[in-house]
Amino acid sequence: MTQTIIASPDISSLEKEVDQIFEAQKKYSQDLKNTSAQERITKLRILKKTILSYREDIHQAVYADFKKSSAEADLGEIFGVLTSISHTIKHLRRWMRPKRIPTPLNMLGTSSQVYFEPKGLSLIISPWNYPFQLAIDPLVYAIAAGCTTILKPSELTPNTSALMKKMLLEIFPENEVAVFEGDAQVAQALLKRPFDHIFFTGSPQLGKIIMEAASKHLTSVTLELGGKSPAIVDESANLKDAAQKIIWGKYMNCGQTCIAPDYVMVQESVKDDLVMEMKTALRQLYGENNPQNSPDYTRIVNQRHFKRIKNLLDDALAKGAEILEGGQSDEEDRYIAPTLLTGVNHDMAITEEEIFGPLLPIIPFKSLQEATTYINTKPKPLALYTFSRKKNNQEYIIRNTSAGGTAINETLAHISNPDLPFGGVNHSGIGKTHGYYGFVAFSNERAVLRQRIGWTTLKMLYPPYTDKKKKTIDTFSKFI
Ligand code: NAD
Repeated sequence: MTQTIIASPDISSLEKEVDQIFEAQKKYSQDLKNTSAQERITKLRILKKTILSYREDIHQAVYADFKKSSAEADLGEIFGVLTSISHTIKHLRRWMRPKRIPTPLNMLGTSSQVYFEPKGLSLIISPWNYPFQLAIDPLVYAIAAGCTTILKPSELTPNTSALMKKMLLEIFPENEVAVFEGDAQVAQALLKRPFDHIFFTGSPQLGKIIMEAASKHLTSVTLELGGKSPAIVDESANLKDAAQKIIWGKYMNCGQTCIAPDYVMVQESVKDDLVMEMKTALRQLYGENNPQNSPDYTRIVNQRHFKRIKNLLDDALAKGAEILEGGQSDEEDRYIAPTLLTGVNHDMAITEEEIFGPLLPIIPFKSLQEATTYINTKPKPLALYTFSRKKNNQEYIIRNTSAGGTAINETLAHISNPDLPFGGVNHSGIGKTHGYYGFVAFSNERAVLRQRIGWTTLKMLYPPYTDKKKKTIDTFSKFI
């Protein structure tokens, strides 16, 4: 497989171009501030129409980047964005309306509201694994909130990045939405500017770099990061059903999904049965023989990630892990077979680093407490899945772990409900997105209090603090 490489522009012309667009967007963000819901909805409708007219081109671009099938491109890249647009169009008027806030008794005579004002000029930096969805979805919310946006998509999926630039140039002037293709150097040039909000999706390591750069200007951030997301299967689970859902969630996009199960914890007594069902599920999805021949199995995005994942496998095998299924690889094709592993331990990098590829360690446990203790030794994950028929066990796991999101008896699907907040916690992310939460991420929730003119209850508390006023203060304290 060959890949197009985007050359980095020379640094002085890059800086000049960034300055020019930044200043133009800063100016225009003032005009956008007071756009109506109807004006923003019109833009979203045009975006939706354009995406639909480019559907075939999007399929071709993600296939050229890493052999993602058109069905997966529809499900994982395009439909999610279309859902976000439709949902936003439906609710934007309500989201934008100032929200009335109740008045406590000691503030009698005042009224309070929250206004949603656009933060202003936003920067979106997106990754390669869902290169279309993870760039355009935050843009939907930036448009809804009334922000201007500079988008810096990933250099690792250059065909999709170039296509998005072409599409967005057709719809928006660059003082409203601009795309800068390129690598870390381009991201760094952008990060020097005092944006009003940065929305970053990528690894926790890069998240720290982004947050450090944002701190120089006290720019607010949404960090959509990753981590090791566990799936827990207890002995009451329907094993066939659990296996199908775990295998689907893990092997969509070849394991390169931020919320893919990173490892499976299974109650010891049902481990062998679960593994058998997982092998069957793999055959159902990718054929009886060689998954490399399946048109539905995506490749690793580049040689660097291929080597990283292969090293995780080799390190685990050298330290005593065993392959239950798969293990084959083909470097030229950037193919690694769906691989189930057992016998992993703390000395292996595979149990410490986010795998972000098609290796799936299976770790047995005796009690739920043992499983949650193991999970809690690691940074808080982006997603946690639990497979159980017992409500008590489901609840025990939720209450004794922490995660950005959880699906019970399912994988991945919590990302698809636009009314659920999506995001991580600590190491797996800061801030939330999707639906209303996405709109709020790009908005300043401005507190507005209205006071009556003339006599007010507060004036009763102004100095000088006479004995009479002190008594009034005592009376006030009863209403707090
Ligand atoms: P990546 O390498 O594509 O990097 C993400 C973006 O950061 C790119 O645009 C890249 O150009 C830019 N970048 C690279 N180096 C930089 C630097 N030094 N300074 C500033 N910007 C820089 O993607 P990745 O980080 O490998 O993505 C994979 C990670 O993203 C995984 O950890 C995954 O779990 C996570 N992820 C999270 C979500 C989510 O929604 N929470 C979604 C997808 C991926």
